[in-house]
Amino acid sequence: MILMNDFKAEPEELRTAELAAVGRVLHSGWYVLGNEVKAFEKMWAERCGIASAVGVGNGMDAIEIGLRALDIGEGDEVITTPMTAFATVLAIIRAGATPVLADIDPETALLDPASVERCIGPRTRAMLLVHLYGQIRDMERWAALCDRHGIALLEDCAQSHLAQWNGKTAGGFGLFGAYSFYPTKNLGALGDAGALVCNSETLAQRAAVLRNYGQSVRYHHTELGLNSRLDELQAALLQVRLNYLDVYTARRRAIATAYREHIVNPGVRMLAAPLQPESHVYHLFVLTSPERDRLAQHLKSRGVETYVHYPVPVHRQPPCKDLRCDPNGLAAAERHAAVCLSIPCHPQMSDADVNAVIEEINAFQ
Ligand SMILES: *Cc1c(COP(=O)(O)O)cnc(C)c1O
Repeated sequence: MILMNDFKAEPEELRTAELAAVGRVLHSGWYVLGNEVKAFEKMWAERCGIASAVGVGNGMDAIEIGLRALDIGEGDEVITTPMTAFATVLAIIRAGATPVLADIDPETALLDPASVERCIGPRTRAMLLVHLYGQIRDMERWAALCDRHGIALLEDCAQSHLAQWNGKTAGGFGLFGAYSFYPTKNLGALGDAGALVCNSETLAQRAAVLRNYGQSVRYHHTELGLNSRLDELQAALLQVRLNYLDVYTARRRAIATAYREHIVNPGVRMLAAPLQPESHVYHLFVLTSPERDRLAQHLKSRGVETYVHYPVPVHRQPPCKDLRCDPNGLAAAERHAAVCLSIPCHPQMSDADVNAVIEEINAFQ
């Protein structure tokens, strides 16, 4: 089976380095929020070209903590996309704010600016842009739109590790960027982990207080925070795995290039190609087909695993069915959910695997 992710196929030298990192933590006798976390935060901020990174428990908490650190909550609306991981919207709700869902551009599955503008109202405080599938795009346009309406730009970077637009890295455009290091992400830990990145020292400090019960000095609480601390083991493992990120991203891009060149089936469409080589890190390679379910079945029978990201848009999930949406509806998101299919695009794939995926898709009738 050609899998969507294949961690067992990771190189032995990576395993060895990970075991050494685990040993270092065991011997340190310090397991939560320590020097490993500090070292990883510094490395990650540097790689993002951003002043600060604050390690937290997961990507969803990074969003919630970022919102709370900006005092975005009760009575405030945050515009985002229904075509995303549920965590994006759940984090807004957990922060006490109200999500408002705008439609997507069917060519990219990213938010559609015209729809976002239709969603803006007197209570809109921010727009949370999701760099879906690893694509960052048109950031000047988003920044200008937010400026024009006096709302904050925020970034969900859970799928876009080190993607760049005009030389600037995801997470550096908004007031904060929220990263997830869930194992399947482009940079993944061996458990849950996340980070908030930002250029404001004040915001970073507040986030660091919020992640630890709102504690400013040991046993002194300046506000009601949460428990979302990054542990030393994950931080040590992330430092090791970060050494592989560039090579792995290059491999994802090479696979995507092969798919774009060689998948030729009139019943299958690609999303729009990235406008800049660095602006897509191919967390996922997503096709669309009106015969999506049959294509997935065909591929499964030929030994190719696929997933659907995402089969149910957020506004169709029962707890979110009453959320405010674009008054014109969310037809593009609904259509995308019905036709999208993610095919394997991970760094451990061999050229033979890539060719097999291409051949099986081309053979589909
Ligand atoms: C994975 C993901 C999240 C949530 O990250 P967790 O670490 O799983 O909490 C949020 N947004 C998007 C777009 C994601 O892909």
